[in-house]
Amino acid sequence: MTDATGKINLLGLTQAEMEQFFESIGEKRFRAGQMMKWIHHFGVDDFDAMSNVSKVLREKLKASAEIRGPEVVSEDISTDGTRKWVVRVASGSCVETVYIPQGSRGTLCVSSQAGCALDCSFCSTGKQGFNSDLSAAEVIGQVWIANKSFGSVPAKIDRAITNVVMMGMGEPLLNFENVMDALSLMMEDQAYGLSKRRVTISTSGVVPAIDRLKDFTDASLAISLHAPNDELRTQLVPINKKYPIKELLRSAAGYMSTLGERRVCVIEYTLIAGVNDHRQHARELAALLRDFPCKINIIPFNPFDQSDYRRPSDSSIGNFRQILHEAGYTVTVRTTRADDIGAACGQLVGAVGDNTRRSERYAEAASKRLLGEAQSAATGREFTKADNLAVSADRHGA
Ligand code: SF4
Repeated sequence: MTDATGKINLLGLTQAEMEQFFESIGEKRFRAGQMMKWIHHFGVDDFDAMSNVSKVLREKLKASAEIRGPEVVSEDISTDGTRKWVVRVASGSCVETVYIPQGSRGTLCVSSQAGCALDCSFCSTGKQGFNSDLSAAEVIGQVWIANKSFGSVPAKIDRAITNVVMMGMGEPLLNFENVMDALSLMMEDQAYGLSKRRVTISTSGVVPAIDRLKDFTDASLAISLHAPNDELRTQLVPINKKYPIKELLRSAAGYMSTLGERRVCVIEYTLIAGVNDHRQHARELAALLRDFPCKINIIPFNPFDQSDYRRPSDSSIGNFRQILHEAGYTVTVRTTRADDIGAACGQLVGAVGDNTRRSERYAEAASKRLLGEAQSAATGREFTKADNLAVSADRHGA
């Protein structure tokens, strides 16, 4: 857990690890609680500012430890109150964190990886390839940075961040241990003290990790489903080929059953015009989820460069919602926020040092598409289905 400086970064230590750390330097375990409050309640990163820590101990801490969050590259505030931070992590890549205020709620959307290996076809993060897992300090560091920007108030007092969703860049369950440590800090009273109902892990369906989840956390669960059948879901969420819908729902239901009654899973469904937004898809979805306790969150697709998907019309969103509602589901439709700072769902891009060459392939495909559109405009020829298929094949690395 030491970094390049040879010092241990206390920011990412869980309560138990912090106690072990103090024992390892010959100090009492109760120091762990003091330290966690300084770090997480008050956002302090300077040992000299810790007034209830003796000078001798402060010097000892300075010799072996530090409190270091990811570097903040930028912080933007949208006209609707949404905030977006771009932070640089140890691998050199940049990831994004978004804060969304809504009434009395303030939800922080946190990233778990720089880039993502899973390449969901509607997601801009996936287009950048994968660079690295974030450390526990880099995951919780995003909450720390956001909390500090609102003036760091102790847990249990009215505060800006009321909910955290692991729904930023990356697949959280492919960075399992670090994300579990960060989740425990989000819910730990000496740190952020958030209720287990207000901390949500969102996964595209890494079934073996969902099966392990109950041994590590009791946070809420969201499944990025996006399609009502395997054929379509495999096109949108390629990991479905490995872990098809039936297995995914079986695994999610198993985890939910450990959380007790009245906790329901959230089904995320990105609605894409002409792809998964037909009335028949809504009916199929209603039938699929009949025995699965859940509520459904519809996310109208947010267009971005490198994607030829389109946002559905308001009437198609309304029809989709109505069918599910009439089938007895609680359905919400996510409103697009913060277009002015590029913080809408599915648009997080950061700056990832891609290890996979995927970003290069997508850039090539996008420039071919632009070239095709320009040629088509010049000749007056319609962009044909064959052209689209060629672009699509490129997009999937064929
Ligand atoms: S939707 Fe999530 S899992 Fe899929 S590519 Fe994007 S970040 Fe990765």
